[in-house]
Amino acid sequence: MRSHYKYIVVGGGSAGAVAAARLAKKDTAAVLLLEGGYSHKHPLLDMPAGIFKMINGSKYMHYYHTTPQAHLGGRVHDIPQGNVLGGGSSVNAQVYMRGRASDYNEWQQILGDDAQWGWEHVLPYFKEMEANNRLLNEYHGASGPVLVSDPQHIDDSSRAFVQSVQAQGIPFNDDFNGAQQKGVGFYQFTNRNGRRSSTAYAFLGEDQTPNNLEIQLQCRVHKVIIEDGVAVGVIYENESGEVLEARLDNALAGEVILAAGALITPKLLMLSGVGGAEQLEQHGIHCIVDLPGVGENLIDHPEVPIIATAKKGFGYFKQGEGWRMWRNGLQFALFGSGPVTSAGVEAGAFVNPISDTEEATIQAFCVPMVYLDRDVLNLVNHDYGMTITTVVVKPVSRGYVRLASSNANDKPLVCPNLLKEDADLSAMIAGQRFFIKSFQTLPLANSIKSIVMPEINSLSDESLAEHCRKTVKTNYHPAGTCKMGAAEDPMSVLNNRLQVKGIKGLRVCDMSAVPNINAGNTNAVAMMLGQRCADFILAGDI
Ligand SMILES: Cc1cc2nc3c(=O)[nH]c(=O)nc-3n(C[C@H](O)[C@H](O)[C@H](O)COP(=O)(O)OP(=O)(O)OC[C@H]3O[C@@H](n4cnc5c(N)ncnc54)[C@H](O)[C@@H]3O)c2cc1C
Repeated sequence: MRSHYKYIVVGGGSAGAVAAARLAKKDTAAVLLLEGGYSHKHPLLDMPAGIFKMINGSKYMHYYHTTPQAHLGGRVHDIPQGNVLGGGSSVNAQVYMRGRASDYNEWQQILGDDAQWGWEHVLPYFKEMEANNRLLNEYHGASGPVLVSDPQHIDDSSRAFVQSVQAQGIPFNDDFNGAQQKGVGFYQFTNRNGRRSSTAYAFLGEDQTPNNLEIQLQCRVHKVIIEDGVAVGVIYENESGEVLEARLDNALAGEVILAAGALITPKLLMLSGVGGAEQLEQHGIHCIVDLPGVGENLIDHPEVPIIATAKKGFGYFKQGEGWRMWRNGLQFALFGSGPVTSAGVEAGAFVNPISDTEEATIQAFCVPMVYLDRDVLNLVNHDYGMTITTVVVKPVSRGYVRLASSNANDKPLVCPNLLKEDADLSAMIAGQRFFIKSFQTLPLANSIKSIVMPEINSLSDESLAEHCRKTVKTNYHPAGTCKMGAAEDPMSVLNNRLQVKGIKGLRVCDMSAVPNINAGNTNAVAMMLGQRCADFILAGDI
């Protein structure tokens, strides 16, 4: 291992792996990627269905606990995040989604016309990264490193869901990332032939990693070293517990790039002396730049389940246990097909339950089994069934990430405030009402025994609100905690080139950077941020 580098990337997740790979490929200088988690090479991570074996307990995840959420009656819920090379892209459900044009046009509006974050500026990045197995058109590419595929296995129950939602008047959509987001249909996934296409595989595979890229696993960064207002290196702890320094080469105009995810990147900034002065002082940290926006503006997509039990044999119940697990494993080993190739969710929808003309307010995921967060797992008996989860795609509630202490090994305080604002709660209630009806509509209704959650004898606003408060969980998309913003916005942390305000040689390129969350899943967005960050650096864009 060298001691000096031109670029040090902190966190090899969806964004960091892409940024590090791009920098190393396009520049001959030394790049160091410090990843806190483990290697991504494990069969459960590779196979799409593995997520359901891991989601409630695995070393490949870090489980952050929220602070008690007063508006949810004091509930504490989990936020799992990847603890592995590839980050979220190595543990996620692989749904491939970018959001819609208006998401990025909104960023452009916030950041100004020169910022070049509008849809026309980001679309080429999405296309360049994508190897779609069906689509090649103005929205899709077919020769990038990220394998994007139609689901290889579709359970009959998912097909029934898609038909029932059509029967409710929602048109079939064969491309949620195309001209129109609204509709019901089958998602595309970042996998191919039963194998996940994480950023670890797509960008850091053995055959592509250039010699000038050094990847160190299980190396957890504690802070950025800042001297005279310039980032010059990082302090990190290796696998054996040794605390070490990695430094930038003085002779090169290098940079430190933070990509530890929206919950950890703000923590690292604060531990380095970049954050709200008052908070830093409380923890005895010398404030180098007073940026009160660090850790604020936490946005996540709230998700609430509707659960129905169904007739025997329906969906994926027990498919990962006993003889069924062996049968499915054998089918995969012999023929490369079957339920193992499914991420456990195949179908979904984007709807606006109260307006035919306006954009979707709700994304739904059809999960052909009972699926609940850890803290509410025992509210329902596990049986044959289906969960339709509804997600508010443009939430207005905002939370925060703050330091619990000045100890780098302590997890931060995370307060997501899911559904705190009335607008989010009413959107969610409308979404719940719409998709409860899907269970009562043919052909899905043919297989359903009963809706067990929420209590359908009373679908008043108040009882649905109560159900939402009891069960709302993260859709695993924390974002926005070091947002890009206009120069005059005192709560912005980054300029529109992803540079930390007031510090030279320091950028953030993960989901922390977004001014607002996109409508839909976030992995593709994080990859795009990593790619653009590398390009800004390589272009000397300062
Ligand atoms: C369970 C789950 C399911 C999801 N499902 C989907 C889906 O189906 N589709 C979709 O598009 N999105 C999905 N997402 C969301 C998506 O994967 C994330 O939004 C995306 O991966 C975030 O990228 P990031 O680069 O911001 O952070 P991450 O990918 O989380 O990367 C952060 C990296 O930093 C590392 N790290 C953390 N702290 C340190 C430190 N101190 N030092 C060094 N390294 C550190 C972490 O180990 C991690 O590798 C899911 C996420 C999860 C967790």
